[in-house]
Amino acid sequence: MFSTIKWSSELMISRLYGENKSEFVSGPSAVGTRYKLTFIGENFIKSKDFLSGVFTSLRNEDQRYSKFRYFYLIQKFQFVLNLTFLGTGTSQGVPIIGCHCNVCSSQDSLDKRLRSSVLIRNESLSLVIDAGPDFRYQMLRESVDSLDAIILTHEHRDHIAGLDDVRAFNYIQKRAMDIFAEDRVLKEVREQFLYAFEEDKYPGVPNIKLNLIDENIFSIQGLSILPIRAMHYTLPILGFRIGDITYITDASFISESEKKKFSDTKILIINALRKEEHVTHFNLKQALHLIEEISPEKAILTHVSHQMGRHSEVQRELPDNVQLAYDGLQLEMD
Ligand SMILES: [Zn+2]
Ligand SMILES: [Zn+2]
Ligand SMILES: [Zn+2]
Repeated sequence: MFSTIKWSSELMISRLYGENKSEFVSGPSAVGTRYKLTFIGENFIKSKDFLSGVFTSLRNEDQRYSKFRYFYLIQKFQFVLNLTFLGTGTSQGVPIIGCHCNVCSSQDSLDKRLRSSVLIRNESLSLVIDAGPDFRYQMLRESVDSLDAIILTHEHRDHIAGLDDVRAFNYIQKRAMDIFAEDRVLKEVREQFLYAFEEDKYPGVPNIKLNLIDENIFSIQGLSILPIRAMHYTLPILGFRIGDITYITDASFISESEKKKFSDTKILIINALRKEEHVTHFNLKQALHLIEEISPEKAILTHVSHQMGRHSEVQRELPDNVQLAYDGLQLEMD
């Protein structure tokens, strides 16, 4: 199990309405900051030393709070984002059916790549970016029992083909799966999964709720997500920045103005297909050039083809702050 909460010692008291409830609310501004509210009744404050201590120090701090009869203890915490690489391969995955090259025949588990997707979790939320043909197996492998949303980078099959398998979550969670994507991608999902959107639905079809996003920041249950426009040859696609993690796959070009959106990101995940150039994807050299420009603390390369070479060999050639992703790799970020 991964840890998701770092509690701060910072305490505040505020008056709120309602009684005896404990709930989470979104922080007002900072990405990744949330507050836990716990109701403190009058008697409870009197009976608990540590709470009266809080009460006293707060009273000293701000007299106006003392006139309220009910208080909430507010604990501020920074949630930890956990990111798991569900898949790190290009559209055909690695190994490729029928290919007996050096990489496809490797026995090293790091050379086995499902279609690219990441799972992002914090203490209250799980979401994935893209759901390709390996989505079902990826959910099983990582024991994902609940999923709040799927964000799509673009409509290529290796990023959406697994959407039919949201049925399992529909069944467990008793609600539609929220899919977030831009207009063109949502239209494509509707067309490719026509049966899920018919007026008179066949029993058991996936229950999908389409949520429109554009290049502006949006949030899922209080988690802020900043879309980044990239070009995938001629197709405009989206990457996403969540806190200090930026995930961009399938890009072949990113404008200077869009780069500004993640110029201070701590972790940059970027696609690198292979060493040779490719018309629709960054190759290794182009990805490394972008990493040098942004200079994040750490960069991770994904959406990798069998033509890149074996993981163990390619990793040796990379700069210290650059890692070649592998399926199952996990990161944690405050
Ligand atoms: Zn792709
Ligand atoms: Zn191969
Ligand atoms: Zn693509």
